[in-house]
Amino acid sequence: MADLPPLREVIARHGLSASKALGQNFLFDEQLLDRIAAIPGDLAGKQVLEVGPGPGGLTRALLRAGARVTAIEMDRRCLPALAELGEAFPGQLRVVEGDALKLDHGELMGGEPFAVLSNLPYNVGTALFVRWLGGESWPPQWTSLTLMFQQEVAQRIVAAPDASAYGRLAVLAQWRGQARLAMKVHRSAFTPPPKVMSAIVHVAPGTMPEGVSARTLERLTEAAFGQRRKMLRQSLKGIPGAVEAAQTIGIDPQRRAETVSVAEFVELARALS
Ligand code: SAM
Repeated sequence: MADLPPLREVIARHGLSASKALGQNFLFDEQLLDRIAAIPGDLAGKQVLEVGPGPGGLTRALLRAGARVTAIEMDRRCLPALAELGEAFPGQLRVVEGDALKLDHGELMGGEPFAVLSNLPYNVGTALFVRWLGGESWPPQWTSLTLMFQQEVAQRIVAAPDASAYGRLAVLAQWRGQARLAMKVHRSAFTPPPKVMSAIVHVAPGTMPEGVSARTLERLTEAAFGQRRKMLRQSLKGIPGAVEAAQTIGIDPQRRAETVSVAEFVELARALS
């Protein structure tokens, strides 16, 4: 196994002060990073897409686990440190400079299945999460998503009905996938420490319910949770036939969105698809 210099030394040598504009909060604890890399299961020989490797803390843990890593990083300053890491693990690391929001990940991974791991700024992470989980095509090319979020966002992703955190993100993550909160990460684990606590969410793709359009489900949850305090009778008014369909399948239109289970949203989308 390659003998790597401590991450703090790599950062000092390459002058990688954390940039606030790029949402940079680095992880240095190698034991913690190894535990994160273990969340998706055995990665030996598997393809991994890492978004936002920064100085490469999580990247080294993935390489140690034997993964073949493609890492997308938009901060050019990090590239020399990542190149060094690539030399320590010959043939295992490919670094792509660019904005992950603008790249076609499936194409980048050559059409092969891949696991996704990342510790990203909140806004980029959520945008990618919504993209990875959306669309009509299922199962996806990714085999799992292991993503760091603010703890509050992680709780929204895994929330159950009737919880205040339950909303669009929960339905999106759970209607054809299994989402779980895999690990809480204390703010002090990061340099610099962010203001809030973080948590890692793991999502595995499940089966696509038959006869349901993802677009219809997305429109329903958008409308229903857009006015979450209102009754469905009011919030679903803008979707032709939705209130009647709810009634037909036994969802009382006097209920509010936050009481409607993921399975009920799926039933409703099926009735309208
Ligand atoms: N993975 C490293 C770690 O855990 O220590 C760095 C995490 S830091 C929170 C987020 C990284 O994502 C930064 O290196 C930042 O430059 C990069 N980044 C931010 N937005 C990005 C984007 N749209 N595409 C690719 N990388 C991005």
